[in-house]
Amino acid sequence: MVKCDICNKEATKDAKLKQGGWANVCEDCFNKYAAKIKGTFTTLKNIGKPGRKIYSD
Ligand SMILES: [Zn+2]
Repeated sequence: MVKCDICNKEATKDAKLKQGGWANVCEDCFNKYAAKIKGTFTTLKNIGKPGRKIYSD
C-alpha cells in the first residue's frame, strides 16, 4: 500500500499540489490540496499499465 504523504491514509493518486511540489495523496487530500489541472495527476493503479499514458487521467 502507498501511503498518503499528507495524512498517512492509503494513497490513490500521485498529484501536483496547489502550493507546489508533488505527493502521493488519498481522495480527501486530493480534493483539498491538489492543483487538479489536467496532466498534473494520475491514479496510482494506472501507473505502469500498458497503453496508459502517465498523468493523462
Ligand atoms: Zn490524505
